[in-house]
Parts: sequence; C-alpha cells; structure tokens
Amino acid sequence: MRVILAEKPDMGRNIAEALGVAKKERHYITLQSGDVVTWAIGHLIQQQLPDKYPEYKEWKLENLPFVPYPLQLEVDPSKEEQMKVIGDLLSRSTGCVIATDPGREGEHIARTILEYLGYKGQLQRLWIHDLTPETIRTGFGELRPASEYDNLAAAAKIRSAVDFWVGITATRLFSITAKEVAKENVKLSAGRVQTPTLRMVYDREMAIQNFKPETFFVLKAHFQTEQGSYAGQWFKETQDGIVYRFKTKQDAEDILKKVTGKKGQVLHYVSKDVKRAAPMFFDGTALRVAARKELGFDIQKTTKLLQKIYDKKYVTYPRTSSRHLSTNAAHQLVERLKKLQLKTKYGHFFPEEIASLVGKKRFVDDAKATEHHAVVPTERNPDDYKNDPAYQLSPDEEKLYELILKHTLAAFHPEGLDRETEVITEVAGERFLSKSLFVLSPGWREFYNPKDDEKPDDEDRSPIPELHEGLSASLAKGELATGKTSKPKRLSDTDLENLMKYAGRHVDEEQVDADVLQQLKEKGIGTPATRVAIIEKLMRDEYIEVKKNLVYLTAKGQNFLELVYEHPIASVELTGEFEQKLEEVADGRRDPEALLLEFRDFTYEILKYKDQLQSKIAELLGNKALFVHQNEVGSCPLCSKPIVEREKSYSCTGWKEGCSFSIWKIYRQVSISSTQAKHLLAGKEVLLKGIPKKDNDGTYDLFIFLKGSSIEVRFPTSEDFSLGACPRCKQPVLENQYNYRCSQWKAGCTFKLSKDFLGQSIKTSQMKKLLKSGKTDPIEGLSGKKGPFTARLGYDSELNRYCFVR
Ligand SMILES: [Zn+2]
Ligand SMILES: [Zn+2]
Repeated sequence: MRVILAEKPDMGRNIAEALGVAKKERHYITLQSGDVVTWAIGHLIQQQLPDKYPEYKEWKLENLPFVPYPLQLEVDPSKEEQMKVIGDLLSRSTGCVIATDPGREGEHIARTILEYLGYKGQLQRLWIHDLTPETIRTGFGELRPASEYDNLAAAAKIRSAVDFWVGITATRLFSITAKEVAKENVKLSAGRVQTPTLRMVYDREMAIQNFKPETFFVLKAHFQTEQGSYAGQWFKETQDGIVYRFKTKQDAEDILKKVTGKKGQVLHYVSKDVKRAAPMFFDGTALRVAARKELGFDIQKTTKLLQKIYDKKYVTYPRTSSRHLSTNAAHQLVERLKKLQLKTKYGHFFPEEIASLVGKKRFVDDAKATEHHAVVPTERNPDDYKNDPAYQLSPDEEKLYELILKHTLAAFHPEGLDRETEVITEVAGERFLSKSLFVLSPGWREFYNPKDDEKPDDEDRSPIPELHEGLSASLAKGELATGKTSKPKRLSDTDLENLMKYAGRHVDEEQVDADVLQQLKEKGIGTPATRVAIIEKLMRDEYIEVKKNLVYLTAKGQNFLELVYEHPIASVELTGEFEQKLEEVADGRRDPEALLLEFRDFTYEILKYKDQLQSKIAELLGNKALFVHQNEVGSCPLCSKPIVEREKSYSCTGWKEGCSFSIWKIYRQVSISSTQAKHLLAGKEVLLKGIPKKDNDGTYDLFIFLKGSSIEVRFPTSEDFSLGACPRCKQPVLENQYNYRCSQWKAGCTFKLSKDFLGQSIKTSQMKKLLKSGKTDPIEGLSGKKGPFTARLGYDSELNRYCFVR
C-alpha cells in the first residue's frame, strides 16, 4: 500500500476521486487500488517560537543572535490527530507519493512531515499543473523519483531557517534598542524580505515628498504642404538624449521668433506597418496587475479569488512566475480550448481556428516553463457547474476567470497591425517631430484591449498626410504651451509586487530580452507564493497603509526605515543576491550547507550595527514618539506644543525644550479619558464621576478644570444638572434613573414626572423644552386605546402629571 500525501483535504479528495474511491474515512481515503490518500492541513509542523528555547526565552541583547540549527519543530497542537494518522499509515506503507502543491512551499510541507516522522521508505513525487481528473490520472502515470526535488527541498529548508534566524534576531535587536534609547515599548518587526520591501516604499515616498514641480515650455507648430497639413513639436538632440522642453519662456519665444513665417522642408518621413503581438500569458503578478487595471481588485482580493478558481479546477497552478507554456502544455491547451469552445457562453471570444502556438517563442518556451508554466484555463466550463455549490463561481471569481480566458485567447487571434508614421520637419535650422498611429487591423484587440497606464497621453497622435522627404512645408502657426513636471507616481500594491519581483527595478516584461529577464528574476526578492503575504505583513505591522490600491508609508514606517536605512537588512541588492543563491541551491548549482553558513554569518552581522542603531535613534528622537502611535489631545497651556497621550499621562511634546506639563491619567482614583483630556485642554470643565470617598463609604462626583497648568476642582451643585426651573417652586429639576424630579423634594416640593409615558421614553431634551416653554415637541408613537398617536405633552400642575397640549 502506498500513501499519497496531499497538501489539503480538498486536494486529497480531488486526487482520490480521480483515481477511484473505495472507502472514505475521516482522515484518509482508501482507493480501489489499495493505496490511501491522506493530507496535511497546510503546515502541520511549525518552528518552535524562540521563547520555547530556554536560552532565547528572554528578550535580551546577550541572547542574540538567534541561530539554532536544526530548528526545533513541533506539531501544530490543533492538527495532532491528522499527524498521528499520517504516521500510522506511513508505518504500514510500502512507499509514499508526495502530492502537495508543485512548488517550494508544497515540497517543504511534505518534506518537513516526513522528516519529523523519520520516514525512510521509497518516495515519489506527483508534479502536476492543475487539478482536473485527467491531469491527476496522467500525473500518476508519470510519477517522478522524489530525489529529483531534493534540491528544491533543500532550498526551501534553508529559506525557512534563515528567515526565522534573521527575522527574530533583527526584530529583537531593533525592539530592544528602541526600548533602551527611545523608551518606547514597541515591537519593531523586521525580516529578510520584508524590510527591503519597505525600503522600496520609503524611497518612493521620499521622492514624492521631496519633489518640487518645475514649469516648462514646449513649442508646437502647424505645417502646411501641398499634400495637406500636420502638427509637430520642437525637439533637439543632445548628449543626454532628446529634449522637448524649454526651461524658460524666453528660450521658447526666441525659437518661435526665429521660425515664424519661415519656409521649411520635410527632412525625414517614415511610414511603416508594425505588428502588435498579443500580450504574454499571465503569471500571478501580471494577472494581479491586469485585475487591478481592468477590474479594480487589490492584490489580496485577486490572490484569494485566483486560489479559489484553481481549487475549483478552472485554471492551472497560480503561484507561478512563468509567463510561458512548455510544448506539452501548449498542445494540451489547444485540446482544452477546443473542448471549451463548443459549449461555453464565451464562444464569441474564440478564433475560428485554434492553431498551435508551438514555435512562437513569445508564448511557448520549454526553457522558461520548467517548474511551472503560465496561468491558463483548463477545459472545465463554468456553465456546466452553475448549480453545483462546490464548483460554481461567485460573480467576482467569474470576472477574474473571464479575464484569464480572454487574455489567453488573445494569443490565438491574429496579430494587430498599426501604421506608424514619423516625420521630422526642419525650419530655419530648428527641428520638429510629428508622429501618428493608425490602426490598420485590430486583430486580437478587437475583443480584448487591456488598459495601458504606462503610455504617456501627451503624445500627439493626429493624422499625418502622405509626405515625402524634401517636400517644402511652411510653418502656418507656432504656439507655446506650458506645463509642470509631474510628481513621481505613488506605488500601487501591484507596482510594489512587481518591484519585489525585479529587486527594485521597473521592468517591462514585454520589452526586455528574455535572458536578461531571467537573470533579473533570479534576484527578485521573495517568492511568487509569498510576495503578497509580505505586503500584507507590512500592513499588519503598521509600516504601510494601502488605500484604494495605493501604498502609503506611515510615520512608524518612515522612522523605522530611517533607523535601519544603512543596515544590511534593508539592502535590496544584498537580499537579491541571497535570493539568487537560494535559486542556485534549488537548481543544484550551489552547496546548501555552505550557503547556510553564509546566512549564519549574516545573522551575526546584524548585531554589529548595535552602536550605530543606538546613536541613530538618539539622533531621530524628537518631541513625538518615533514608533508608537500617539493620540494628540490638544495643545499645551504653557508652551502651545501638542499634548499627546502616553501610557500614564497626557504630556507635552515640548519636554526636550524643558516643558514638563502633563496631566496624570488617574485623578483621585478615577481615570481621565482622552476625550475628557481634550475638553480640559480646551478650557472646559469635566465631571469626574464615582470618586471613592476617603472612608470608602460611597462615592462622589467632582468637576475638574485647568487653571494655568494646574487642575482645580469644584463640587457640583444642583444648578449644574438642572434641566430647568420647577413649575411649582422655580428650583432646579434633576434627572434620576426613572423620573424627572424637583431638587427640593426633601423640602416638600412634589414635582415628579416619569421618564416613561404611554410606551414612549421622554428624552431629557424634551423635558427641557417642557420646563422652558410648557410643552414638548410632538411625541410620536404614544399608545392609545385606538392605536398609536402623536401629541405634545405639558404639565398638569393640579394632578401633578403629564397632560396633552396643543
Ligand atoms: Zn508644554
Ligand atoms: Zn419644586
């Protein structure tokens, strides 16, 4: 009996159903063949947190660095039962098939379990790109020896160990230093991939903050020829490239004067037809970019939806960084699309003939689709499962599926064809550029026209007549236009993911040479499966905020990054190099043990910056907290600086300048809320309720207020709480729990009205009106014998009760 180990229960069920179920148990399924399928539930085994190691329990600098190896592992307590079943099954087995997700993470999940159990039997690997029954059956016919994936497993193991070492060592170092120097009790989480990612956000934020707009001028000209007229823009070739803009108005006007009324000629005329290939297939990142532009989904949303569509078997494995298909996958895709075409409601997206893409390097390249290939549809048709709760698509899932389908089909449609025309016209030695674009044949763009926010929209694309070089052209009109240089763009969440993928570089995958792309990719930071989670982690740690898909650095994020800017943990380059080395381990090009030692040295290196960090914090220290979010409650009565909420007080941020103003949060054993502190600082009186009496015999209430910088008190009087004058004795009326009563009741005044009247509660504001003007506003919903009614209430002094008034 072989044990087939899947990553998750539903994946286990999928595999079992494809291979033939004999009997289902709670924790495993026996197959007709006699083999059993069981499953992990994600990570069954976890790394023991440092506080479980006696020597690392306390947060002290002396305990660092944290570099235990091998790491101590433990079974996730909530998953012990499943783990026991896997152990029992394996002990009775003749072999094991690893059938977790085909990737680093999946490999790691399976290997950790097997290692923990000390499994030494025969190991095979199922490596498939989607979960359809056909693919599962084919995959079982082509099982690989698991040893082919030993390198991948080794890389995964190192990655998880060093991420743990580096993360814990750096987080503790930064947090301890912040506590020592800044006296702030805060966890400053840092990580091998997370911190360089934050640095990319920081760099962009600084570029935005430091940006100063500059005014510039451009010169446009309208030309007249015997062939027709067209527009052009002045330019000049310089050593640094082509310049279109003038820095001063005078410069532009000088040129305008020089060319006005002059005759010129066409110096250069090229009109050519340019093919427009369909976009490359999606990998996870490119799909998230497209989903943001086309559907407005943020990265978390797209990631979740994509996993669901994959689990429901409509698309291939999504955590891929390949945008190509292997030859096999390309043949399979054609067969699948043919099946799908016959019955899908998206039939009109399909080309007449679905021809093989093999031979088109843009789409099919075995060298670039090794571990995984691009995300493409399977033959499964959503229409067939409309009423099946397990497989039906939600509206958003369907939108994403439709995007993947359209995008994939674009590759099977004819290329588009555009006519591009470029003209250079010379007048009095000055040159003008004209460009036009004319769509001859839309091709695939007829049904799929992805948004492109990279293209500048200021380019003049007005039509140009058919010209020829040497043709004379007169300048009919020149005009100056002015503009302002624009701020660097704020990063979107998908921009950030793309920057991680290419280690901080902006790369247009459609344009860059494939081999260069591959090299850049190896240095990318994080993995396709973890990048989104890292961005989420930065949000949870309150270093960044994402609003409407745009990434903002928080004050904490800015201070933290300024603290660690020079530290190697924030280096995008260094992290990129480490990532490349991990890739090389995964490919068998590098010795895992040697790399592990290198990482160990790096972890030691983190600590070398201790003194530098301390002085950096001292330098950053200002009036406000660096890392803890502080609530501002008002301004200081002594020095006008902001007052912020601290652990035990509301204190002036001018302490560095010597202002010691503060209000303790506890006054006579009662706490002052931040709202009350705001009122005090605004010069208002605040009522503190329930102050215990000295002899502990009950409580009393007290008004407090600020006089200069000290708190003064005043006992409340009945006037303070008066709702108005008593209609009987003119003394204050007070509110009790159930009624409104005259403050002079002890002296014998009988005025008392219940707060409830005919099923409605009479609000304080209405009682005030009654006492002031003799009547309330109309009160709705009073219950009468004939049903609810509305009436104004007054006071009947003879009967001492409510009465109805007009
Ligand atoms: Zn002050
Ligand atoms: Zn009274």
